Amino acid sequence: QHFLDRIQRFDGALNSFITVTADQALRQADAADAARARGNAHALAGIPLAQKDIFCTEGVKTTCGSKMLDNFISPYNAHVISQCEAAGLVMLGKTNMDEFAMGSSNETSYFGGVKNPWDTTKVPGGSSGGSAAAVAARLAPAATGTDTGGSIRQPASLCNLTGLKPTYGRISRWGMIAFASSLDQAGPMTQTAEDAALLLNVMSGHDPKDSTSIDQPVPDYTATLGADIKGLRIGLPKQYFGQGLDAGVEQVVRDALKELEKLGAVLVEIDLPNSGHSVPAYYVIAPAEASSNLSRFDGVRFGYRCENPKDLTDLYKRSRQEGFGAEVKRRIMIGTYALSAGYYDAYYLQAQKVRRLIQQDFAEAFKQCDVIAGPTSPCVAFGQGEKQSDPIAMYLSDIYTIATNLAGLPGMSIPAGFSHNLPVGLQLVGNYWQEARLLNVAHRYQ
Ligand code: GLN
Repeated sequence: QHFLDRIQRFDGALNSFITVTADQALRQADAADAARARGNAHALAGIPLAQKDIFCTEGVKTTCGSKMLDNFISPYNAHVISQCEAAGLVMLGKTNMDEFAMGSSNETSYFGGVKNPWDTTKVPGGSSGGSAAAVAARLAPAATGTDTGGSIRQPASLCNLTGLKPTYGRISRWGMIAFASSLDQAGPMTQTAEDAALLLNVMSGHDPKDSTSIDQPVPDYTATLGADIKGLRIGLPKQYFGQGLDAGVEQVVRDALKELEKLGAVLVEIDLPNSGHSVPAYYVIAPAEASSNLSRFDGVRFGYRCENPKDLTDLYKRSRQEGFGAEVKRRIMIGTYALSAGYYDAYYLQAQKVRRLIQQDFAEAFKQCDVIAGPTSPCVAFGQGEKQSDPIAMYLSDIYTIATNLAGLPGMSIPAGFSHNLPVGLQLVGNYWQEARLLNVAHRYQ
């Protein structure tokens, strides 16, 4: 009730929720109380959280930030939702997001932009901007997000939160509306690393319904939070501290690294020679996969349907024309072009080769260090509308986060300090399945 009251009081100014599920939340809270009274409650039973509106929720609208799904009620729960329900977590509602998770500012949402609680003239980042704003404004103690190229870490950075994108395959994508299937991964957005560990415990695990979910045991991510980090080798990619990085952000990040050194970590410079190619490779691969994934929205089985179609072609065309926003259409066109006959080798195949090189860069780097660190975002939260007319400037928001998705590695953003009176995130990237190590470093730092 406390959080529902806060949502009612403050979310008018932030727009972080698309749907608030007050009645259901109170019922779930009662059920958690009852389980506690019976003595068989999960440790997290009764704790509220907000779910990004990309996760299908049975009986509750799932929009993915799009007019296309404005009236869509899923007949089933995403795996992440079922896992949270099974742990007794209470869903407060579904959070605002960039349309189909395409964006870095939450401004592409059909339901309007989200305001950054630290300065409401600024964006919260995206695409998980609603989740970030809700947790930062303490309208929810925690939230889920998804990250295809930075959508958990960048909004976490801009809103002073802890956000973790796990190793690809750690969390089932079942029922999570697909953007770019080979890059998409869900994860927690919280105030602290400890909260992130608690939530990751619940979200992780093998799910036979997602063939890319990996059958790897789930450790208790809280167990190693306090471990010593003496001698831990932290790699600083020289490419992450160059041109394009705001000087104030760099200062905060360098100060944070000094703190880690005081805790016993050793800083080493590393080279990620292909990192300059990650944004271009991503903007071929992600739109290509998106153009294929979004072909299911045809106005026939579910989602938006245009009025009075003349024939089947008109139905397809106008439903998609009227149902999708400008950024989504741009991605579908880029992706369709990149996959078309004659261009496939030149663009898609080439981008896949670059992707492999980026992966190999990381493999080399992890011979010299245990964790990679740097800025999450090149700048602090920017003004509403500031980058909207320049897609390339917007795409550069993820210049430090995208390579992690291309390689499938776990990455995290943690609050590091303030510059220009706005939060700055420190990014930590680990080798495959090293979530516990990232959480440990984050926890020691915090
Ligand atoms: N900002 C990136 C994009 O627009 C990444 C989004 C994401 O991670 N979902 O594609």
